[in-house]
Amino acid sequence: MYKILIIEDERAMLTGLRDNLEFEGYLVDTADRGDEGLKKLTTGEFDLVLLDVMLPGMSGFDVCKKARAGGIETPIILLTARGEELDRVLGLELGADDYVTKPFSLRELLARIKVILRRTKQTGAIPSPNNLVQIGLLQVSFDGYEAFREQTPVRMSHKEFEILHFLYRNAGRIVSRDDILDKVWGMDYQPSARTVDNFIVRLRDKIDTPDSQHIVTVHGIGYKLIL
Ligand code: CA
Repeated sequence: MYKILIIEDERAMLTGLRDNLEFEGYLVDTADRGDEGLKKLTTGEFDLVLLDVMLPGMSGFDVCKKARAGGIETPIILLTARGEELDRVLGLELGADDYVTKPFSLRELLARIKVILRRTKQTGAIPSPNNLVQIGLLQVSFDGYEAFREQTPVRMSHKEFEILHFLYRNAGRIVSRDDILDKVWGMDYQPSARTVDNFIVRLRDKIDTPDSQHIVTVHGIGYKLIL
């Protein structure tokens, strides 16, 4: 049975999450302060952490940073506030695995928890290129140039596949628009950086939900795919 730690100071949110996760069959422990949460987290007994950013005692970012510095590899999903993109990027830089934006749907959060738990269970397993890989709501076969969203085939252009594949190979790393232009269009013909942005918009439509963004814009640099 999986153990999940919730670190959240809003009582209604904390109680709601705890009840729902317990209903789903998870063992749940909670903390309503950052410092207290870090103490529990460093016991290493949890399979996953839901971590609010704005917390008394110690911010979620510091909890994340200190846990990682202390060698704690427990997956962390940040609970961030809407519109704080910088927070999300920073959180991921500090070692968080994923984030949801408040207010999020419970279904979306539960799906993300399952994806992360499944991924950490098969550590080191690199998906075979023939297999479908999950990116947000999209399942993609890069070999077969096929994509599905909730069992329904999704039409994607060759270039969209190639851009997504490039981002996927570099998941978690920032890639510049120039990198994408070089790798996907090559040296012969290069459209403007604006074209890349347009493709990214189209990819986001296929991958993301309002609650979760997988292709993060890193202002002035480029993009980063978060799995
Ligand atoms: Ca809070």
